Amino acid sequence: MARERSAAAGGRVAGVDGGAKGRYHCAMNVPDLSLHEAFLRRAVELSRRSLETGEGGPFGAVVVRDGKVLAEAWNRVVAASDPTAHAEVLAIREACRSVADFQLPGSILYSSCEPCPMCLSAAYWARVERIYYANTREEAAAIGFCDAELYRELSLPGDRRRVPAMRLNLDGAFEPMRLWAELPGRILY
Ligand SMILES: [Zn+2]
Repeated sequence: MARERSAAAGGRVAGVDGGAKGRYHCAMNVPDLSLHEAFLRRAVELSRRSLETGEGGPFGAVVVRDGKVLAEAWNRVVAASDPTAHAEVLAIREACRSVADFQLPGSILYSSCEPCPMCLSAAYWARVERIYYANTREEAAAIGFCDAELYRELSLPGDRRRVPAMRLNLDGAFEPMRLWAELPGRILY
């Protein structure tokens, strides 16, 4: 519990009280599993705090690297009028800002619920090393969230999805991409 309170006091929260930068220093003798459970419990605690704010759905996330919390967040979809303001995305954004980098190699994402495809993709783009989650996509579906449906949609061809995605051949569309690929100073991500 002491560790959790420490995280609560020192972690960076991208919620109503966001902005206070802090770091979580872990005891060296804490077994890995307990450590992961502690961070995951923190993510769940954030999901509970989101209920008090009314800012969005009951989801929380923590990004940790080298045993230190880089960022914490809860879902702010409603408050931010932003369908992408999921806890994991906000935590990844904040973690990247905190280290001034667009990738987070070696970091771990703890999420109170199995990440939706968008958040999973964000974790991949950020080069997150591993993800731990507590509740499942099926449990999210049971309370009205469509995470499980989104995973099913992804397995369908684009033109058979509920939101069809179809290619239109367009002259010159590839030109900016070709030019970028030839830039000597391009930054791959
Ligand atoms: Zn998500």
